[in-house]
Amino acid sequence: VNNHVSPIFDKKGNVEAATIVSIDISRQKELERQKDEFIGIASHELKTPITSIKAYGEILVGMMDKTTAPIIVQLITKMNIQVNRLVKLIYSLLNTSRISSGQLALQLEPVDLNALLEEHVLQGQLTTSRHHIAFSGQKLPLVLADIERLGQVVDNLISNAIKYAPKGGDIIVSAESRSDCVRVSVQDFGMGIPKSMQEKIFDRFYRVKGASAEAVSGIGLGLYICHEIIEKHHGKMGVESVLDEGSTFYFELPLHTVR
Ligand code: ADP
Repeated sequence: VNNHVSPIFDKKGNVEAATIVSIDISRQKELERQKDEFIGIASHELKTPITSIKAYGEILVGMMDKTTAPIIVQLITKMNIQVNRLVKLIYSLLNTSRISSGQLALQLEPVDLNALLEEHVLQGQLTTSRHHIAFSGQKLPLVLADIERLGQVVDNLISNAIKYAPKGGDIIVSAESRSDCVRVSVQDFGMGIPKSMQEKIFDRFYRVKGASAEAVSGIGLGLYICHEIIEKHHGKMGVESVLDEGSTFYFELPLHTVR
């Protein structure tokens, strides 16, 4: 039960009475638990068929050659794009459910961040012709991290930079070494985020209100998952953003003595 007590004062400023508002949160908690459970079961059940469909799509691509009718090539390509979107969505739900049940385990190893960033910048560039993604790195120490999970964070930040700068433009990915940490930033010159909403964007299912943000499809899980992954690495994540000018998302990972 949550109690909110507010005193009522008389003219002299003495407490005359008080109001107490009690909210029973056990029902709220139970609903939350049921939601988590549903997300867990649904995403788990969806994973197997979608993984098969994705594999069949890849086989079809392998079977295409010069004699394949253009309409077939076009339909298979479109199908694979949509299947990949679905795969990402299902994995986001699966990750969310792993996070809420405390099952997001990290496999730590020494990671060369420059190489990781370069690879994901190249991959991101393949998904857009309207943006130019630049990478500026400097000599960085190795960090102890889960390379898959960290790649997922970088992918997410780059794909958000692309999504929320729909007119195109530059995206700058950079990494720098600081005294006690390594900091990675992804800067875009897109729609930006209103100040009042900047704190909330890392919450589960939170999406920015407003016509331009809502015109972009999404379910508000990406940043929540990124934030949790970085927290698990004992790092920190944040954003600096100006509405209509752009955003810089960054994360910092603590330095370990990795040789
Ligand atoms: P999704 O993109 O699926 O909605 P995210 O968790 O990745 O979910 O992002 C949450 C919200 O934060 C988005 O709905 C969007 O409004 C805002 N946002 C995220 N990245 C950016 C960005 N680079 N520029 C502007 N807004 C962003």
